[in-house]
Amino acid sequence: MAKIKLEYIWLDGNEPTQVLRGKTKVVDSSKFSGKLDECPQWSFDGSSTQQAEGSSSDCILDPVYICGDPGRTNAHIVMCQVLSSDGFPHPSNGRAMINDDDGDFWFGFEQEYTLWDKATNKPLGFPAKGYPAPQGPYYCSVGAKNAFGREIVEEHLDICLDAGLNVEGINGEVMAGQWEFQIFAKGAASAGDQIWVARYLLERVAEAYDVVVNWHCKPVKGDWNGSGMHANFSNTQLRTANSKAVFEEVCNKFAPQHVIEACIAVYGADNEQRLTGLHETQAIDKFSYGVSDRGASIRIPLYSVQNGWSGYLEDRRPNSEADPYKVAATIIKVVKGGFEAGDAVQAGTYGSNVDDLTIVEGIGPKIASLLTEAGMDTLIEVSNSTPEKIKEILAAAGKRYATHNPGTWPKQAELAVAGKWDELKKWQDELDGGK
Ligand code: ADP
Ligand code: MN
Ligand code: MN
Ligand code: MN
Repeated sequence: MAKIKLEYIWLDGNEPTQVLRGKTKVVDSSKFSGKLDECPQWSFDGSSTQQAEGSSSDCILDPVYICGDPGRTNAHIVMCQVLSSDGFPHPSNGRAMINDDDGDFWFGFEQEYTLWDKATNKPLGFPAKGYPAPQGPYYCSVGAKNAFGREIVEEHLDICLDAGLNVEGINGEVMAGQWEFQIFAKGAASAGDQIWVARYLLERVAEAYDVVVNWHCKPVKGDWNGSGMHANFSNTQLRTANSKAVFEEVCNKFAPQHVIEACIAVYGADNEQRLTGLHETQAIDKFSYGVSDRGASIRIPLYSVQNGWSGYLEDRRPNSEADPYKVAATIIKVVKGGFEAGDAVQAGTYGSNVDDLTIVEGIGPKIASLLTEAGMDTLIEVSNSTPEKIKEILAAAGKRYATHNPGTWPKQAELAVAGKWDELKKWQDELDGGK
């Protein structure tokens, strides 16, 4: 009787970055026709994957997604979530954090990665000593001078498509040896499942070439682009918005400091090396958004504007090593308002972002640029400062600024950063020139 190979894959408990594990279950073809509900739960030794203590080591593999495995005969890949022995989601299980039961959230992830030469311990295309020509020609390149590892990339694309993954495209990236694929799904969990299976398949294709897949977000220090996993997302509200204000309202939900921190916590390890404000990124401690702005934290794609302010947003901060489940879970939580109970953000009331110090009554363009020069270049810094400190900066700029009274400025900035626009506006109506 023919046998079927089921590759159960799952995420281990490694910190700060979970990595893939897999083992094969062989089943009789008489008991299996390729459906998910025919895949039984299975278990593994959690003490070997940082998911359990040795004394009670069994963890459960709970199948959540199945597809063909074109790289093997009579085979399927079974993506699993990990449950603790009591049957509840294991703490490492990001998929269980997703609150998208109706599949209203659509995600398109742009997965970047670097093909890595084991012998040189550098990207494919880098000479053993020194560096290749500077960045410029590699992005979307063609030809052996600038494109490195295409055979792996092509084989991976074919195997993903044959497996039934919804890959939407591939392209060569800005650094030599760096590539990207995009996967789109209606439903956050499905997008995460497919990214993980595609990562697994890439590992396996590259393994056959003895090439390492380097998922790190800044594999080469210096003037070389890092690797991201831009998260393009939409829900019915964004897809049918027909309103600039709705887009701004959603973007503003990401602006408060505690939300920035909640996002960065799951957007991938070492992201401060990548989110520097250079190389098409915004700095890790800043938040901004803008139409077509590749230097912003969240880009409003031109498509959404031209489509009558209906469409999707691109959070550019998640990195190549981030767990798409946790990224999606966090974005959904922010959009649904989970991080700021009761704090409705009034769209368009104050322009858009935390870089705009003039949101604070009393700060005009001149003083804004003084503060910016002194390193206080976002409302976050203003909110963390004190009236005394700001007074010093003003005094140092000359007599005519010394008369300003910044007594309320940090508090005003704090309200803005927290997205408490209503409260701020009410207060500003009472203030006279910020006093
Ligand atoms: P760029 O490199 O210009 O940022 P890409 O073409 O690489 O853009 O990726 C854009 C991604 O946005 C694609 O994966 C696509 O599936 C996704 N996308 C398009 N429309 C939507 C939508 N309505 N909701 C979520 N994602 C979307
Ligand atoms: Mn892209
Ligand atoms: Mn890219
Ligand atoms: Mn992008």
